[in-house]
Amino acid sequence: MLPFESILKQAREQCEAAADLPAIEQLRVQFLGKKGIVTELMKTMASLSPAERPLYGQQVNELKEAIQSLLQVKQEQLQAHAMNAALERDAVDTSLPGRNVGIGHLHPVTQTRLRIEGFFSSMGFDIVTGPEIEDEYHNFDALNVPPHHPARASHDTFYLEDGHLLRTHTSPVQIRYMKTHKPPFRMVAPGRVYRCDSDMTHTPMFHQLEALLVDDHSTFADLKGLLQTFLEAFFEQSVVLRLRPSYFPFTEPSAEVDIQCVKCQGEGCRTCSQSGWLEILGCGMVHPQVLNNVSIDSERYSGFAIGIGIDRLAMLRYEIPDLRLLFENDIRFLKQF
Ligand SMILES: [Zn+2]
Repeated sequence: MLPFESILKQAREQCEAAADLPAIEQLRVQFLGKKGIVTELMKTMASLSPAERPLYGQQVNELKEAIQSLLQVKQEQLQAHAMNAALERDAVDTSLPGRNVGIGHLHPVTQTRLRIEGFFSSMGFDIVTGPEIEDEYHNFDALNVPPHHPARASHDTFYLEDGHLLRTHTSPVQIRYMKTHKPPFRMVAPGRVYRCDSDMTHTPMFHQLEALLVDDHSTFADLKGLLQTFLEAFFEQSVVLRLRPSYFPFTEPSAEVDIQCVKCQGEGCRTCSQSGWLEILGCGMVHPQVLNNVSIDSERYSGFAIGIGIDRLAMLRYEIPDLRLLFENDIRFLKQF
């Protein structure tokens, strides 16, 4: 075997056996370095005759290139292998579920209020707010509830100093609105109201929304039609209305509005206490004296008002059995909405 071929064979075998990049570098030194095997072969060229030199030189060059090529191929293999190993080691598992970011949401009472406001807004009602600390005039007197009127006692009012009080209903917002606007108008006043009362169906603070419409041709039939439309939109089903004569100082005539139970369709269930009916809200035609109190001509104009318990509607819509759950702010409860 010629030395060239045996050197190439040796280089090929060692190259194949090389396990890593330092081993390749070591082979490069061993064969092609300053004192390497191929370099030593080059040096012996000087002892040859001029006739032998070209062939010899050519063969040594071919050997050198062949070994360079072997080393190059092996080096690339090892580099690729190392990269794949690194990729595998540092791989990110993109299929792992992410860390849960808790996104909050609106309180069920707020959701219900926005839902009611949305309906009345679409019917052209202004949404108006007013102060929660009121005076007796706006909360009672202007609404046809003079001092010593029995209705004052029934409101269980929180009185403050200097004739002020925590408003017991949102009706005073209507008084403030009517004093500054000329009919025809329609508005709703949502907000917190306060009464000294606490049990399964009463809390010292609760939410009301009052709707008021005043113009020169409003009738009780308009009121009933609006209620029907509103309640069907709210409960997203057809509802059967029942109006019972009632008494409020600020409306005449007045009515309590019941709907056939939306859970049992009148069969009788826990929600409706087996009666088949749900008390929903109070309403009536605005008392002429209330219009006179805010300088609106009660001969020319008439109007109607609706008082809605927002919490009551939230309880019915979300099937919440105890009003107090709405205000305890237990996150396990609130998360369900
Ligand atoms: Zn029922």
